[in-house]
Amino acid sequence: MKMSKMFVQTLREYPSDAEVISHKMLGRAGFIKKLAPGVYTYQPLMWKVLKKIENIVREEMDRAEAQELLMPFVQPKELWEESGRWEVYGKELMRLKDRHDRDMCLGPTHEEIITSVARDGLKSYKQLPVNLYQIQSKFRDEIRPRYGLLRGREFIMKDAYSFDLDEAGLDKEYENMARAYKRIFERCGLDTKMVQSDSGAIGGSVSHEFMVITDTDAGENDVFYCNDCDYSANSNHAVSNLPEAVVDGKDYFKETKIIDTPNTHSIEELCKFLNIPASIILKTLVYIVDKKPVLALIRADKTVEETKLMNAVGGIDIRIASSAEIAELMAEHGFEAVPGFIGPMKDVKIIADETVKDMKNFVVGINQTDKHLVGANLEDCLICHPEALAEGSHEILRSAQNDIEFTDIRLVERGEFCPQCGKPLQVTKGIEVGNIFKLGTKYSKPMNAVYTDINGKTHPYVMGCYGIGISRTAAAAVEAHYDEYGIKWPIAIAPYHVVIVPVNIKDELQMKVANEMYEALKSAGIEVVLDDRDERAGVKFKDADLIGFPYRVTVGKTINEGFVEYKVRETGEQEKYTPQEAVDNLIKNIL
Ligand code: ATP
Ligand code: MG
Repeated sequence: MKMSKMFVQTLREYPSDAEVISHKMLGRAGFIKKLAPGVYTYQPLMWKVLKKIENIVREEMDRAEAQELLMPFVQPKELWEESGRWEVYGKELMRLKDRHDRDMCLGPTHEEIITSVARDGLKSYKQLPVNLYQIQSKFRDEIRPRYGLLRGREFIMKDAYSFDLDEAGLDKEYENMARAYKRIFERCGLDTKMVQSDSGAIGGSVSHEFMVITDTDAGENDVFYCNDCDYSANSNHAVSNLPEAVVDGKDYFKETKIIDTPNTHSIEELCKFLNIPASIILKTLVYIVDKKPVLALIRADKTVEETKLMNAVGGIDIRIASSAEIAELMAEHGFEAVPGFIGPMKDVKIIADETVKDMKNFVVGINQTDKHLVGANLEDCLICHPEALAEGSHEILRSAQNDIEFTDIRLVERGEFCPQCGKPLQVTKGIEVGNIFKLGTKYSKPMNAVYTDINGKTHPYVMGCYGIGISRTAAAAVEAHYDEYGIKWPIAIAPYHVVIVPVNIKDELQMKVANEMYEALKSAGIEVVLDDRDERAGVKFKDADLIGFPYRVTVGKTINEGFVEYKVRETGEQEKYTPQEAVDNLIKNIL
């Protein structure tokens, strides 16, 4: 391709709304053009990258014996009602009506559609197992579309769905897909970690994510991993063993009583006032899960992991309550406490982290401003009555423990111990580029998608689903391969392999050599750009670095001595070669 004919506009500045490297670079180098928030045109350079990623994905999926199809992007409500997700999916699902007033949606994912396709086509055990996939644009009305292609509203995904006779079949296919994913990301030139994760709204029991590990701000996930064994997990799923800490307040509190704790609105203030470690305070947080209040109890030196809490309640939407909502909750239950003094109460769902069970003689809020209960224990005191408090004491409710559900809702922290081998856990940021889920019968059962076994009995298929964000993978590659001057595309997904830069297009010899090399590389099957623009060399070099061609060959004055300059973008390494040597080297390194 001749640069003078290429449809590409590099910019002097980064896009003003770009926060992360890949968004900045892809915008400035002319790969993407924003149409609306989270909606982009993939310009020719970007489209070449995306097609290369798609092809790698396609080759590896085909190699793993999955079959490609293409399902409609617009989907009818009825199928979503069958699965039960029309009501629960929330605002990410872009709903619309057709001219007959029928409800439709833009496909954010395709479990419902593929399950309906399968149930019409896969009737006998003899036809299973099958794995079907597609590569297609999805639409999700993300609450915060940001970071360019990393979190768009319209984005390209590869989604695959497997149908098996039983769990054993699914386990095998899950492993098969994990292997395919490993090859895909390796071929794309990306280092990924396969980590355990939460199964989220898609549901199912087991899932893993493939994370590009990055030190840039773009990593939206915290990944905990162990250097001594293979444990690694997304923070929404990670568990740990805790280092020893004081969890028994016996040295601080000899008896159980209500004391004045004026103006202790934060844990720090309370610790300071009572001169105690946070680990003997039981903190009560108010969340709203699917519109209902939930109290989360946790040791005050630890943090609630919201996805774990949401799953514990069985919800699909969670947020911390506003002060107005807390005030309302208090009023409803006859209390007047302000945040900082909230405690467990009756008739509200209470989830406690399981480490709370180890706490003894602790400090806890009792829904009374400027007061706390100290020397408290789970078995004797947890749920307070306003009437009892009014009398200046607290009612001891032996049934308290029955009202509290104990489970793991704790966010793991660096330095806590690996649940597998006990060594300290490390943490890093990651970008999720793909995931694999064991769905089981989550969709096949409600949608009555069944096969007939050898005895004529019907069973729901045992399903798995497997996603890869094609456009996100491209952006993640930029996050992992760049420098201050621009992108450093891994060779397998670079839009072009080589750029040839004649320094002065008016110099006949330079242009002749550049053209000859251009033709030689093209006919060898190398994707090459000839920068034949009448621009200063500095401008061309800048663009070459910004766009991220893996190799640059400069034909300048040294051609009078028979040499060109050969530069590797990734390492910055430079060599002087004859044009023939340069061509030979490129062919050897690229093909
Ligand atoms: P996330 O937690 O990042 O929102 P997800 O769990 O919603 O991702 P899936 O529904 O499993 O993701 O989609 C499969 C893949 O599609 C993800 O692994 C990711 O690579 C990609 N993906 C998901 N949402 C987006 C988005 N808004 N923009 C770009 N790619 C996305
Ligand atoms: Mg999502």
